[in-house]
Amino acid sequence: MHLHTPIKCTRCRLMHTEADRISRPRPRRSTSEISMSDMVCPRCGCKNYYDCTPQVAWCWASGLIEIGDAIPAESPDGGGAIEIARGPRYALDAQVGALARHGQGASSGKLLVPGVPEAGTQEAAGDALARWLAWCGARKSRDGVVWARAA
Ligand SMILES: [Zn+2]
Repeated sequence: MHLHTPIKCTRCRLMHTEADRISRPRPRRSTSEISMSDMVCPRCGCKNYYDCTPQVAWCWASGLIEIGDAIPAESPDGGGAIEIARGPRYALDAQVGALARHGQGASSGKLLVPGVPEAGTQEAAGDALARWLAWCGARKSRDGVVWARAA
């Protein structure tokens, strides 16, 4: 975790960074116990936070979805990545994970755009992606996640 990583307190929702957090000593049960402290929210003292690092999600022509700091320039086979959404890491991971299809068998552990892997043509794949993006973008609770509009 970088000192300037943007984070949000899970309790009071204060946006701050690791560098803003304050050290709070943990209560000791006995004097022989080692003294420890936690880094906590400067406003409410909560230990837990969301990682709000800006991230982007993209998909490949195969329908495979990936999330990272920036869209890769080009795949090994020369195909381009298509941006599907961007937003703070905690919210983007959760929403893409909830809305994408989870791969089975050989694709186990991977996230896929519904309808794209089985599309027979590039056009059908584009239609499936557009439908999925429209469905995702229509959701109300987004926590800062912005879904791309299909081209
Ligand atoms: Zn707080």
